Amino acid sequence: MRASTPKKASLHTLGCRLNQSETALIEDQLRAKGYDIVPFGERADVGIVNTCTVTREADAKSRQLVRSFVRKNPNASVAVIGCYAQMGAAAIRDIEGVDLIIGNQEKLNVVDYIENEKRETPLVIRDRIERDDFEIAFAGEQPIDRRANLKIQDGCDFMCSFCVIPFARGRARSRAMDNLFEEAESLVARGAKEIVLTGVNIGTYAYDGSDIVDVVDALDLIEGVARIRISSIEPTTIPETLFERMNDSNHTLAPYLHIPLQSGSDRVLAGMKRQYTAADYLDFARLAARHVPGIGLGTDIMVGFPGESDEEFNQTLQLFQESPLHYAHVFKYSEREGTASVRLSDQLSPEIAARRSAMLRKESAINRIKFYEQNAGRLVDVLFEQTENGYWTGYTGNYIRVAVASDAPLKNKLRAVTIEGTMGDLAYGQLLESSVAAPV
Ligand code: SF4
Repeated sequence: MRASTPKKASLHTLGCRLNQSETALIEDQLRAKGYDIVPFGERADVGIVNTCTVTREADAKSRQLVRSFVRKNPNASVAVIGCYAQMGAAAIRDIEGVDLIIGNQEKLNVVDYIENEKRETPLVIRDRIERDDFEIAFAGEQPIDRRANLKIQDGCDFMCSFCVIPFARGRARSRAMDNLFEEAESLVARGAKEIVLTGVNIGTYAYDGSDIVDVVDALDLIEGVARIRISSIEPTTIPETLFERMNDSNHTLAPYLHIPLQSGSDRVLAGMKRQYTAADYLDFARLAARHVPGIGLGTDIMVGFPGESDEEFNQTLQLFQESPLHYAHVFKYSEREGTASVRLSDQLSPEIAARRSAMLRKESAINRIKFYEQNAGRLVDVLFEQTENGYWTGYTGNYIRVAVASDAPLKNKLRAVTIEGTMGDLAYGQLLESSVAAPV
């Protein structure tokens, strides 16, 4: 490796929380090898872009970020890794200045491949993705002052017709329980208060007889962990026993679920090869709301799936309005090569998709504020993340973003707050003197 003192590395992550968790592992490896991690955009000896390929825009954004890094750092060693590296290696090869293209199987070993000599043509490592359960070597020692993502699973067997992820990340497989527990212990010992479980389809976690409930129960035993949060989870994979944990004030599982809906039309859901009907979904969301008072419920909705009629879109809108869901992340359908939905005729115009997306986003903002208002008067615990203009903001267990006026050092502190009302798209509240064991 070329001598350079101090060596600087710069990383950028596109896409999902799982990618973020993997970038964090790579950063720790780089630090262990003596690199300084600098913000993306600053001069660096090594640049790593952890890419996403979930939409065409994600592909374009991945290419654009790589190009901009190379322009600013023509002599740096440049690695493009992750989902777009797996699926779009040919297009990345054409970008001048790229040294390494590493797909998902080998991406966590990127540090072993990095050398600072520029290559004439990039080395492409795009191995077949293994089907076996896995362990991850982790090397972190740095203090952590934010929510920490913990990868517990990878891949997906569901094969939704629009989704490229089973091709980009392979079949469903789970991380060994001991190994994920050890990393969680290390994250908490380094300062993380909240652990967010991540994966592609985490409700399908299955390792040596253990399921996702066993994972949350095991992590709950870690001394010092304040919250465990389940990130996105498929509606058909959620065991109802999780509700008991969410209701148990001695258990650290947060009362929160993000459950992708995608569409409120049965015809569209069938075309997407989703595994439930609109009525099944609504029943489940209502069951969760009934069993866990105050639960935060979010969803993903896709608009503009081929052939989605006005009426079918209205069914989605109506389901969202009638449901206890408090927000929706809205995505426009994007044709992905190799997926089954590419063969469907009747692709919708971008204008229609954009109009539908705007309507749903508006409804999402309304539901979110309604949910925040329903929580006015409650005493909650907030894990603070950032400060701006004299206000600190952070999240409750049920995922309300709360602002308090304070100039105290609150970063990564869990504090008791009384929610008083809303302010723009936030809830606002008053900080209490000490933290309490609050229900949300
Ligand atoms: S459940 Fe469907 S949308 Fe989610 S990753 Fe698997 S195939 Fe893709």
